Amino acid sequence: MNQHPLLDHHRYIDKMFPTPLVGVSLSPSDPSILCKLEFFNPARSIKDRIARYILEKAWRTRKIKVGSTVIEASSGSTSIALALVCAQMGLKFIAIMPEGVSQERELIIRSFGAEVIYCPHCDGMQGCLDFAEQEARKRNAFYPRQFENPDNAETHHLWTGQEIISQLPEGVIDAVVSGVGTGGTIIGLTRAFKEAGCKSIPYIAIPTTSHAVGDVECSSFSKRIPGVVECMSKLYDKKKLPEAIEISIPDTLAIETTRRLIALGFPVGPSSGLNYAASLLVAKQLGKNAQIVTVFPDGMEKYFSTELFDPFRTSPAL
Ligand code: PMP
Repeated sequence: MNQHPLLDHHRYIDKMFPTPLVGVSLSPSDPSILCKLEFFNPARSIKDRIARYILEKAWRTRKIKVGSTVIEASSGSTSIALALVCAQMGLKFIAIMPEGVSQERELIIRSFGAEVIYCPHCDGMQGCLDFAEQEARKRNAFYPRQFENPDNAETHHLWTGQEIISQLPEGVIDAVVSGVGTGGTIIGLTRAFKEAGCKSIPYIAIPTTSHAVGDVECSSFSKRIPGVVECMSKLYDKKKLPEAIEISIPDTLAIETTRRLIALGFPVGPSSGLNYAASLLVAKQLGKNAQIVTVFPDGMEKYFSTELFDPFRTSPAL
């Protein structure tokens, strides 16, 4: 066994606890949706799982060792997760980011000891991915490639999905609902639930916008829900998940639902509001007694400087 030398020192990452799966309803008359609270992970998102799974596998197969460099192109949760796991495993991490991401993200990544390189001349996220690939080759670095690495979906198939099944004593799941960034979550969970004998239908939550979208790479997709950009993925396409049903959610509803969840004490980001709003629509279609599973992918902290918190910036007059 390729034992990690930091294992007995300060390394806790391989002892990650299961995150809670809880029934959430916005009001007593609303249906209860089973929500996986991924903001309980160490770096506050579901991406902690893929970071740990992919780097552990790379470690076991001797693709990386203490001191190796890891490079990824991501503007959000994946870079933060990789920065934390690299800090735990004694690896150097470089995050390649498009310009204009919120300052919170850069601060979190740098505080975990990682480097941030902005890609000023990159043509959106695709430009960043191309640049990351070049840099990884030049520096002989490990490149996790979340948008195409099958280990991303395998993480949710073998880990997140199994964890959810173990938390559902009766093992019945009628639907699983998620937005698609890389597609790793919905592909992995669908596989896990199918294997466990559930007849669950996958629903893809698509954030739509009525705003001008000239600078958005997928023109019908809203930029207001960070992390949910289906068109970047090489893992997900409709042919791979033919049974999936798409469900459109206006971005305004997703943001409003996120604020309502926060007000109820769920410190979540916009994609959780998107997933929850879509789950309510699915509950309407399938009936109140349907068991619907969704994920709250990340916490609210990286969004403090965004419009999500605008209503809370001024305190109301007493
Ligand atoms: N929500 C957030 C905040 C994300 O960062 C992502 C992934 N980029 C998703 C949802 C979508 O998850 P997946 O990549 O597994 O499709």
